[in-house]
Amino acid sequence: MEPFEPEDFWRAIILYGLNTATYKIALAQCLISYGEGHQTDIPLDVLARDFFVLYRKRLEADRPQLVLPDRLTVMERIVRLERLGKINEDQAIERVAREAFGDVLPRFHTVSDKALPMSFYHFDGRTLHLTDELFDLFGNGPKREHLKDETGSRWDLLEAAFSLRRERWSLTNDIRQFYLEKGYARTDITHTRPVLNGYQHGRCFYCGDVMDNDEVHVDHVIPRQLVQHDELWNLVLAHRFCNLQKNDALPDAVYIEKLIARNEHFIASNHPIKQTLIRELGASPEARRKAVLRVYHDAELVIGVTWQGIRGYRPDTDPLLHKFNQLWKTIPHSSR
Ligand SMILES: [Zn+2]
Repeated sequence: MEPFEPEDFWRAIILYGLNTATYKIALAQCLISYGEGHQTDIPLDVLARDFFVLYRKRLEADRPQLVLPDRLTVMERIVRLERLGKINEDQAIERVAREAFGDVLPRFHTVSDKALPMSFYHFDGRTLHLTDELFDLFGNGPKREHLKDETGSRWDLLEAAFSLRRERWSLTNDIRQFYLEKGYARTDITHTRPVLNGYQHGRCFYCGDVMDNDEVHVDHVIPRQLVQHDELWNLVLAHRFCNLQKNDALPDAVYIEKLIARNEHFIASNHPIKQTLIRELGASPEARRKAVLRVYHDAELVIGVTWQGIRGYRPDTDPLLHKFNQLWKTIPHSSR
């Protein structure tokens, strides 16, 4: 096996391990410039100043530096205070020296909970003493532009990943708010039973088995707590047992496909319920499918798919679904 070079360890630090914030990358950028400048001992306040300048530049674009969507890193807070004029630059740098390095200086050489067998610096609590390994990489010999590029890209990548997560986070809050604000008055849904049963032929929507009359429950496929309504397109009949198993969870997508097929079956049959479904979901099969999938996707973002279904349920052997699918095929393509 080839011996490991300092470059291998450097790349492990930059590319691997769990980066929940960008501190390691910022420290790496400082180390690169110290190596190139042949500085061997870096006092903490010098590091703090360089760190602060780096982050202030970085945060001009307000890109998040932490994986947690609703928190700020120490650096984000300090830069913000300085920007608002609550503290001046010297105070900001003092705070960076005091607060920002507690994790990153002792842990820089740790990757996935393993300490690497070499170091690019030693820290005595006041000063960073840089090692020959760092100068091998950045001080002497050929320029390692690829390592510099890699470090910069990694910072971009982490910020982009944190931003995505943040958007998703605020999106789910918006969705939750949207459904909750629509309000919800509990209505009696027992009258839907005969209609629904006409199309389930006494079989449970979730397991496909026959139901006895006294164990039939009306169930909201996408949980009522989220949709906040009792619209017919989302109601099915299920065993009491299956209904309780599912509870307020969001079922697997196979059941959503089955629900869409069920609704199209209603509409194709010209049952009076047809107009209700068209009003609720739309005039064309595509519009209705989109409407159902949109609510399902919203629900997925908010609560996730939390119920895989009755164990052993297989859509390909479900007689009811089979029937719906046959029907689906008979609908001419132009009217879909
Ligand atoms: Zn069942």
